Amino acid sequence: MSGTIKVLVTGAAGQIAYSLVSFIAKGDVFGTNQPLSLVLLDIAPMMGVLNGVVMELKDCSFPLLKEIIPTDDYAVAFKDVDVAFLVGAMPRKEGMERKDLLAANVKIFKGQGEALDKHAKKNVKVIVVGNPANTNALICSKYAPSIPKENFTAMTRLDQNRAQAQIADRLGCKVEDVQKVIIWGNHSATQYPDVRHATAVVEGTTTPVQKAVQDDNWLKNEFISTIQKRGAAVIAARKLSSAMSAAKASCDHVRDWWCGTPEGKWVSMAVFSDGSYDVPEGLMYSFPVRTKPDHTYEIVKGLDIDDFSRQKMDLTAKELEEERATALEVCSA
Ligand code: NAD
Repeated sequence: MSGTIKVLVTGAAGQIAYSLVSFIAKGDVFGTNQPLSLVLLDIAPMMGVLNGVVMELKDCSFPLLKEIIPTDDYAVAFKDVDVAFLVGAMPRKEGMERKDLLAANVKIFKGQGEALDKHAKKNVKVIVVGNPANTNALICSKYAPSIPKENFTAMTRLDQNRAQAQIADRLGCKVEDVQKVIIWGNHSATQYPDVRHATAVVEGTTTPVQKAVQDDNWLKNEFISTIQKRGAAVIAARKLSSAMSAAKASCDHVRDWWCGTPEGKWVSMAVFSDGSYDVPEGLMYSFPVRTKPDHTYEIVKGLDIDDFSRQKMDLTAKELEEERATALEVCSA
C-alpha cells in the first residue's frame, strides 16, 4: 500500500458529493491500493446533514478509508490536501440572473483559492465542478498564486461522457468504443462537442464517427444541441440537476489526470489556454488533453479545425472572456 493521500470534497452535504464520496472511498479514482483521508467541507448550516453522510461512509466499511474529517472551517479543510474536488457552490435561486449567480460563486472560489494558497500542498491537484466551473477555476487559481496554474482544471468530462453515449446509442456500439470526442470551451450551452476527430468501432472496424453516422446534419445540429442542453433536460425530468453522472465524470477526470490516459487516447478537460488553436491565452478553456502517470498533462496539438468548428470555438471563447471580465470585476470590488 502507498502512503495515505488527503482528498478534499467541498459541497460534501450536497447531491453530487453523496455519490462522489463513495466512488472515491472505494478506490475508483486513486486505485484499490491507495489509502485515503477524506476531508468533507460544507457550510455551517449543513453540518447536521454532513454528519449523516459521515455516518453512512463509516457504515460502508471501506477498507481504504483511513480517516474522515467533516468541517466548515477552511483552515481545517484545505490543510495539506493532495487533491481537491471543488463541488460546493451556491445553487441558482428563483429570479436570480446568471450574472448574480456568477457573482455569488466567484466570491466563494476567491476565498477557496486563498485557502488553497495558504494551507494546501503546493502540488495539490484541483478540479472545479461547481458552476460556472471554468470561471470559478480561473478565479481560484488567481487567488492561489503560489500553486502552479496547471494544477487547476474545470470539469467538462460530463459533457464528453454524454457525447460518447449519444454517439454509441446512434451507432448501436459500445460506449467505450467511441473515442476522441472533444468538448471545446465552456461548460455551458455554448460548449462545442466536436466529433470530427472521433472514431467508433463498428462491426469490428475502427471508423471515423462522421463516416459511421452518415448524417452530417444530425451531427452539426441535433447532436450538438442535445449535449449543450442535456443538463437542462435532466433538471426538467428529475426536478434536480445531474448528480450521479456528474460524480462519475469528476471521478473519470481525476482518475485520468492521476493515472494517465491510455496510449492513443485523449480526454477533455478545461485547463488554462496556452494559445493553442488561437484560443486566447489565459482562458480556462476545455481542450483535448493527454495525461501522464506523473500527473502532468499536455494539450493535444495540431488537429485540423474547419470553418464550422472555428466559429463554434470562438463563440464559446467569447462567452468565457465575458465571464472572466465580470468575475474579475466582482472580485476587485
Ligand atoms: P447541491 O446544492 O446539492 O450541493 C451543493 C452543496 O454545496 C450544498 O451542500 C451547499 O451547502 C454547499 N456549499 C455552498 N457553498 C459552499 C461553500 N462556500 N463551501 C463549501 N460548500 C458549500 O448541488 P450539487 O447538485 O451537488 O451541485 C454542485 C455544483 O456542481 C453546482 O454548482 C452545479 O451547478 C454543479 N454541476 C457542475 C457540473 C459540471 O459538469 N461541471 C455538472 C453538474 C452540476
